[in-house]
Amino acid sequence: MNINVKDAQPGDAVERGIGAYLDEIVALRHDLHQHPELSFHEHRTSDIVATRLKSWGYEVETGIAGTGVVATLNRGEGSPRGEGSRQIGIRADMDALPIEEATGLAHASTNRGVMHACGHDGHTAILLAAARYLAEAGRFDGTLRLIFQPAEEIGAGARKMLSEGLFERFPVDAVFGLHNWPGVPSGQFGFVAGSAMASVDQCNIKIVGKGGHGAEPQRTVDPVLATASLITALQSVVSRNVDPQEMAVVTVGSIHGGSASNVIPESVALKLTLRAFNETVRGLLGERVPALARAQAESFGATAEVDYRRGFPALINHRAETDLARSVALEAFGAGQVVSDFKPRTASEDFAFMLEQKAGSYLFVGNGDSAPLHSATYDFNDAIIAPAARYWVRLVETFLAR
Ligand SMILES: [Zn+2]
Ligand SMILES: [Zn+2]
Repeated sequence: MNINVKDAQPGDAVERGIGAYLDEIVALRHDLHQHPELSFHEHRTSDIVATRLKSWGYEVETGIAGTGVVATLNRGEGSPRGEGSRQIGIRADMDALPIEEATGLAHASTNRGVMHACGHDGHTAILLAAARYLAEAGRFDGTLRLIFQPAEEIGAGARKMLSEGLFERFPVDAVFGLHNWPGVPSGQFGFVAGSAMASVDQCNIKIVGKGGHGAEPQRTVDPVLATASLITALQSVVSRNVDPQEMAVVTVGSIHGGSASNVIPESVALKLTLRAFNETVRGLLGERVPALARAQAESFGATAEVDYRRGFPALINHRAETDLARSVALEAFGAGQVVSDFKPRTASEDFAFMLEQKAGSYLFVGNGDSAPLHSATYDFNDAIIAPAARYWVRLVETFLAR
């Protein structure tokens, strides 16, 4: 913990500015929560975001990756963009999940089977709260770009925005994003330089044997037994192949085969998720898991059909931008509001694709003692809108300092 950093002055101008319309933003967050939309279907959300941003004076481009929105605001010498003027991008995600909400809250989802269970309604509200302040009173010189991204949950939105020329059309020197984090005290900030979130790949394996009567195993090739052996063997990849100092996860999350006690089935299907913090370990999982599946199946006289699907890379925060991001939080909120040793998370995040193209950092804001992300009883904590929005304002004013 850095004891040289002075505690922030309570009740500063940004806090008062955002406080003046905070009720409105919380109401908007509840409205978004009541009307969650699945990945690439964020039409209503996108309309609301674009309309608000236009009303505050932003240049707004819609329809990027379908429902994505990018808003630009130039100020000072950066208008029009002069030599040496700086540009910052801040990204929020907008999509919800196919989960039936079970919170029983007054603002619970009215869209059956769809729920903002990851707090992307909150991320959108936070960035809108900051956007309004920055338009009305922000002290900066340069170009501010706000990126409202669709389809984070299916890992496709960032990639699609990039493939449609996001950073060619809307250049930035660095890009930042945040995620609320349950279990971290409300409104506390977490920063990780380097690998901050894991890569995620999926592997579907079908072990194919020869079905038959459960009473005559000698006339069959039993894929259930081969699968049982494989599942145990798969854990040897983490314990025996991966460097003990590195992180890797091999999870068999789904197994389906057979339908009766006295029938040996033809095949058994498995679905795995594989995670790592770097490309070396990721590549190792990609080699060893299919190789083990094939060899194990063969040792039982069965065969393995392996479908390995690369998802997204590990999210790697850039050091200089992460140091800057941390220093902004320390300056604005004091050391007590910054988790001193925030650990990387084994969840995944498609902002990783943006950080492959641009410098930047992805940070975490404590959601307090809430249900976990992707749970039917999760709710975004409204108390973190004000500090997180204030944080974005401070980051922009620091990055684009006059
Ligand atoms: Zn999520
Ligand atoms: Zn999320």
